[in-house]
Amino acid sequence: MKLPYIEPYKIKMVESIQQSTPEQRKKWIKEASYNLFKLNSNQVVIDLITDSGTGAMSDKQWAEIMLGDESYAGSRSFLKLEKTVKNITGFKYFIPTHQGRAAENVLFSGLVKKGDFIPGNAHFDTTKGHIEHRKATAIDCTIKEAFDMETDHPFKGNIDLQKLEQTLKETEKGKIPFVLITITCNTVGGQPVSLENIRSVRELCNEYQVGLFIDGARFAENAYFIKIREKEFANHTIKEIVKEMFSLADGMTMSAKKDGIVNMGGFIALNDSNIYEICSNFAIMYEGFVTYGGMSGRDMGALSQGLIEGTTFDYLQSRIQQVYYLGQRLDEFNVPVLKPFGGHAIYIDATKFVPDIPKEEYRAQALAIELYIVAGIRGVEIGTLLADRDPVTRKNRFPKLEMVRLAIPRRTYTLSQMEYVAVALKNIYETRKDAKSGYTIDWEAPIMRHFSVKLTKK
Ligand SMILES: *Cc1c(COP(=O)(O)O)cnc(C)c1O
Repeated sequence: MKLPYIEPYKIKMVESIQQSTPEQRKKWIKEASYNLFKLNSNQVVIDLITDSGTGAMSDKQWAEIMLGDESYAGSRSFLKLEKTVKNITGFKYFIPTHQGRAAENVLFSGLVKKGDFIPGNAHFDTTKGHIEHRKATAIDCTIKEAFDMETDHPFKGNIDLQKLEQTLKETEKGKIPFVLITITCNTVGGQPVSLENIRSVRELCNEYQVGLFIDGARFAENAYFIKIREKEFANHTIKEIVKEMFSLADGMTMSAKKDGIVNMGGFIALNDSNIYEICSNFAIMYEGFVTYGGMSGRDMGALSQGLIEGTTFDYLQSRIQQVYYLGQRLDEFNVPVLKPFGGHAIYIDATKFVPDIPKEEYRAQALAIELYIVAGIRGVEIGTLLADRDPVTRKNRFPKLEMVRLAIPRRTYTLSQMEYVAVALKNIYETRKDAKSGYTIDWEAPIMRHFSVKLTKK
């Protein structure tokens, strides 16, 4: 019998979980106006609201916290992180920022102007926000398979090359500063992009003389999928694949809260000295001097170590296998989930799960609330609440998919806790016929309403 995979670490420090009962949680979620963002963390048993900044650091990362050099200029921790980023990505220049959106702010301040277009694969929401804030337009060129929950495609994050070429051809010259590829593509469910696809995008960018940048929040998870699913790379190391991916781009933005396995941090890396000079000025204005950019020295040290650990095969295998385990168990229980399973999260199809709850009553939110009450598990609605209202008509925008996302923090929960999540959903699935009504909105903010919306049970 083949030995099962194991976590390539053992636990040295634990944090206790506050237990609670369904009755308590029923009361708490009502007090929170049925908004999961308003719960305190000690009211939550298993917290799957995000995988961003919620991972567990290693002993070596904690050692870096003690070694941190807090000098304003030229700190040892900066030099250590700079060396690691250059080693791992192959880029020539590096600018630290306090998180991923800050990297976007600095880079786009230098490169994106009013009236520009930024083609890419389903841009992340802060990325889109930073583009639209500058009166530019994000153009989604993701392949159509990405929007079908059932289709089994190994690289659902890929760019549709025809659509990209058409965009490059039809857009006025000089209006596309760069193409942006997000790896893995968070917005379509943590789905990877193949190296073959990145290569083809690079060729198109060369032909039309536009830049290519990578949003690399989950670059290591993407490299893992390339190794497993793309024949050419089966015998390459993760670090070799990472180098190959980034060698095709002019630069990257990074949210280190994801594959950097730290709680806060980010950076920009690039090759062009001119862009580096321009971005350095914005970095100093928005983030801090270029040798700390909004990060403490100790945090830069921990990130340096996190990047080294986060690009090892054993770690990535256990990380992605854990997500896969949860998806597989749910599939065995017939719970409808997005396939293939993404790198960082499992997405439940609320439309199939609770079809009798009208979509006007926020069925994915209703399912997320039920999961919280039954088992104390906090997921997040990716559906109508998140989609906000149409800015002109003020009518609800109903997205194609109504989902509950269960994002798995890195190295934080055990397999038996994943089993707990799967069984909780199985139990809810068995009583789904009783779910007929959802929620109505009492109060909402004009934009980004999901963070603060107040709901009433219908
Ligand atoms: C999280 C994320 C960002 C933004 O990073 P923050 O660190 O949250 O500011 C950008 N792009 C992608 C793909 C992300 O997942």
